[in-house]
Amino acid sequence: MDVAKKILEYTVKCPVCGSEMKVEEYLYDMPLVGKVIISSGRCQRCGYKWSDARLAESRGPRKIIYRVEKPGDENALVIRASTASIIIPELGVEIKPGPAALGYITTVEGLIMDIIEKTEFICSEPDAPLDECKKKLDQLRKARDGLIKYTIIIIDPGGVSTIVSDKKREEPLSIEETNALEKEVSGNGFSK
Ligand SMILES: [Zn+2]
Repeated sequence: MDVAKKILEYTVKCPVCGSEMKVEEYLYDMPLVGKVIISSGRCQRCGYKWSDARLAESRGPRKIIYRVEKPGDENALVIRASTASIIIPELGVEIKPGPAALGYITTVEGLIMDIIEKTEFICSEPDAPLDECKKKLDQLRKARDGLIKYTIIIIDPGGVSTIVSDKKREEPLSIEETNALEKEVSGNGFSK
């Protein structure tokens, strides 16, 4: 990765405590990816951390589809903007952007690990549905260990997410799909 250039600094309201939070934006020029903007901020009052990652130039609302089917596929780089949804149909995963959603750069493997971690956390709650949790975690761990094939679909109304691989497919989002997404208001990423 190249040396980062700070391009912007602004304040937003902390989604946790409502106090002012400073956000800094940096521009990176990454090989194979192009120009990427990373933003991050930390609330001075409550310690909440926010970050986002996105391509510097929008390529229009789109769907990115990537199939994980053989060893090595899990190493592809994923840039998920905070405004994008991630769906993995085979694993029952649906991560929707909420007001406190984060954007990030990770690998497919890192994404699966993160989903496992969050699912374990949710499943440790006293009222968690145990059968469903066990089934879901089994599937996720099999995916992590390369025992099942799965598809990552990023629904990206901003056109600023990507998966860095020749294997990915991209489809434009229809106006209906884009409108439906804008209407959705959702919180955490755990749903069936
Ligand atoms: Zn705060």
